[in-house]
Amino acid sequence: MQKGMLLVVSGPSGAGKGTICQEIRKRNPNLFYSISATTREKRVGEIEGVHYYFIDRAKFEQMISNKEFLEWADVYGNYYGTPKKPVFEALARGQDVILEIDIKGARQVKKSYPEGIFVFILPPSIAILEERLRKRGTDREEIIAKRMKMAREEIANCDWYDYLILNDDIDAAVKSLEAVIIAEKLRPKRVNYKVLLEGGSLKR
Ligand code: 5GP
Repeated sequence: MQKGMLLVVSGPSGAGKGTICQEIRKRNPNLFYSISATTREKRVGEIEGVHYYFIDRAKFEQMISNKEFLEWADVYGNYYGTPKKPVFEALARGQDVILEIDIKGARQVKKSYPEGIFVFILPPSIAILEERLRKRGTDREEIIAKRMKMAREEIANCDWYDYLILNDDIDAAVKSLEAVIIAEKLRPKRVNYKVLLEGGSLKR
């Protein structure tokens, strides 16, 4: 059985990675979406176990010491982390996994799991990014300023990613991400071509 692919999607907040990931999940129901744990407060409309596992700092720190995270990071003063077990179980089942995490977390995954595929979502401009954050209306002014500063730093350091996807249009961005998935599946390491030499046949 071929192992699944681990797709890591990051990008500044407001770049639209959440919407892109939501849409790609709709179109590819077999994709396993990793639900992160976080210590940040629940926003209106967010559901425990669907958007995040909302836990307190003590529990988060306990999970760090138990090495339960594939990666974790402090983002804008809150902890966010990817529970390791469900991700590796899905990969072992042959399911592709998508992680929507910040750049610090993505770097950790690159170190511990270099065969992952790293995708960075770019906004069409810094001005549009700021406008999107304001429209979202979920963050205080001071948080928006913090996020904008972070965004510039993240964009300045995105050259190590495998793919940069421009999100000027959700549909086009999702198509680009699907193209990445399709192309990555054609890599020799993911095609069981040797089966042909044994008289077997290949399936899509
Ligand atoms: P938000 O608070 O807007 O939901 O997310 C803030 C940032 O944290 C986003 O960049 C999001 O991608 C990132 N994030 C969400 N979950 C994780 C995680 O498990 N690990 C890391 N490193 N970042 C995460």
